[in-house]
Amino acid sequence: MTQTPSKTSQSEALFARARTVTPGGVNSPVRAFKSVGGTPRFIREAHGAYLTDADGTRYIDYIGSWGPMILGHDHPAVREAISDALQYGTSFGAPGEREVQLAELVTRLTGAGKVRFTSSGTEATMSALRLARGFTGRKLIVKFRGNYHGHADGLLVEAGSGLMTNMDGQLGESAPSSAGVPEEYASLTLVSEYNDPAALDTLMAERGTDVAAVIFEPVVGNAGVLIPTPEFLAALHRVQAVGALLIADEVMTGFRLSLNGATGLLGLKPDLTCWGKIIGGGLPVGAYGGRSDVMDFVSPQGPVYQAGTLSGNPLAMAAGLATLRALEADAGIYDGLESYTSQLAGGLKTLAAEAGVPISVNQIGSMLTPFFVDAPHGTVRNYAQAARSDTATFGRWFQELLARGIYWAPSQFESIFVSASHTPTELDATLEAARAAFGSLKT
Ligand code: PLP
Repeated sequence: MTQTPSKTSQSEALFARARTVTPGGVNSPVRAFKSVGGTPRFIREAHGAYLTDADGTRYIDYIGSWGPMILGHDHPAVREAISDALQYGTSFGAPGEREVQLAELVTRLTGAGKVRFTSSGTEATMSALRLARGFTGRKLIVKFRGNYHGHADGLLVEAGSGLMTNMDGQLGESAPSSAGVPEEYASLTLVSEYNDPAALDTLMAERGTDVAAVIFEPVVGNAGVLIPTPEFLAALHRVQAVGALLIADEVMTGFRLSLNGATGLLGLKPDLTCWGKIIGGGLPVGAYGGRSDVMDFVSPQGPVYQAGTLSGNPLAMAAGLATLRALEADAGIYDGLESYTSQLAGGLKTLAAEAGVPISVNQIGSMLTPFFVDAPHGTVRNYAQAARSDTATFGRWFQELLARGIYWAPSQFESIFVSASHTPTELDATLEAARAAFGSLKT
């Protein structure tokens, strides 16, 4: 008798094969569903607001490739730009016009004096910190607990994202956050509390003259969404008075919260900014930029070395250009994203309350996290408060959504990302699934 294949048999088979040849079966940890359990879906294709897995099941996608797909998947303008670039070769190892065009567009949209392209967000933050050290001649950096800036050694200290849940799904507490990071590296990274202006002021009063840079997520996505208070933003700007550079890590928020990211939305004045994700339109691109006098320290103009075989890759530049141009051309796009996401947030609040499930929702623009914690909405402000979430209940809720065709972020400590392809149809379907998912938590 032949067995009916389960809805996940192809993903299960691929996961088994993957585990024999790749650590944990994935190329980036959170994809393995460790903290929510179950089989990670292997994705076959993605169009608009939808993912289709290897078993042919369609999901409304709230990951958006962890941020880049703000226009939705397989956007015609981006696809055309990549196909057009493809006719002329895939990598030159020499400069080309698209790099100049994207740099011109990024500097115009963000006010940065100069930018340098990399191939990932991690390279951007790592390079920006080396630059800050080279420019100031100082060694220390300051970061905030639960902020994630990629996986460079000195940044894997009290870090967020996949590091907030370890292999067993428990909260990670130690610094450094990863094996393989020497204490000596970690000791050059000072950690302060997000949204605690007094703690930052005290730290800077004690150590400020040795601090090369303070790096921060202007809106945190990697501990779940945390929104900064005006007092904290003011304290961040005070670090510039003692000669430390202020580095806004806009890898997640850049071009997502506005055309000039969180910087534009919140009126920030960083010395340097890091970008990734949307700037490459779904292809591998990162960038760092800002004050020209600082950027001129980068090689070959200056003494701080940084390079990349595939930096400025023509296909990646084409995808980034098409994405940013589409965002700039559509004046209503950010209002539309905000409207969808705030309706989603409102719906989740109502449905959870009806089902008697305590959640605390943080939402800004197209970023949103429902923390499964008993606190008023909008009051989760730092790592410790986020870490009180009931991750087991979140995991059950996640599975209930997935079973109903909604692909939510597979960790409590992540933001979801809404795209311009999400319409009222997807909103209604999501809220219907969420109603059932909250309802099922009681049983
Ligand atoms: N900085 C922030 C704020 C991020 O969210 C991420 C990735 O999620 C990074 C840096 C690292 O970027 P990448 O994964 O492209 O190396």
